[in-house]
Amino acid sequence: MRRVLAELLDLVVPPVCAGCGAETVTLCGDCLGALAVPVRMTSPRYGVLPVVGAGEYSGVLRSCLLAYKEHDRRDLVGVLGLLLARAVLAVLEHPPGAGRGATGPAGAAVLVPVPATRRAVRRRGADHVAVLGAAAAAVLRAEGLDVRCRSLLEVGAHRDQVGFGSRARRRNVRGTHRVAGPGRRAREVIGRTPVIVLDDICTTGATTAESVRALAASRIPAHGVAVVGIAPGGPRNGPGDGI
Ligand SMILES: [Zn+2]
Repeated sequence: MRRVLAELLDLVVPPVCAGCGAETVTLCGDCLGALAVPVRMTSPRYGVLPVVGAGEYSGVLRSCLLAYKEHDRRDLVGVLGLLLARAVLAVLEHPPGAGRGATGPAGAAVLVPVPATRRAVRRRGADHVAVLGAAAAAVLRAEGLDVRCRSLLEVGAHRDQVGFGSRARRRNVRGTHRVAGPGRRAREVIGRTPVIVLDDICTTGATTAESVRALAASRIPAHGVAVVGIAPGGPRNGPGDGI
């Protein structure tokens, strides 16, 4: 009942556009248009797998992610989940880790979000990457793909990455992720389905590289990494370079 009431309130009091601040629905047409760019791929500083993102972490995309993460704009889950689904689809169509072992059925994948610290979950009220992963998986299932999101990883004690330089980020995160519970159980959940590690933003690649390492330590090879936004500045393929 409370949810129905909230939805009605949304209709009566429209929020502001998370991209430009215009008073409108979740996103105005101009800002939605700014998000409709080709997916891009980067080879981040850390990690062996290339990272596919739905766009550059700047402008409207950055505003939307910040509004979602820091200002609890859950109405953005739909559009951000759709963007993440596009990146996942690009990984499935051009698997950067092809030949790494698993040979699941075409169009099947298990999405594994990078784990959130307990502190981040407390502060934000949810594991925001896992929420986006579930939304992306739902989009892809609606398209007929066998895609599930499974939070197989957990994090030990380490600080949030915000405000750290790239080397400090790497030191800060290395060795902190692990498969939750017995590795055998996680392997049973996955079977031979390709695994794609998810994050919201790729800056140096340190966080996703750590998740890939933790999965590999439990003999679960990751096939690719998909994110919503790739931070500008690193080496990357341009929008015209395929994925
Ligand atoms: Zn706008």
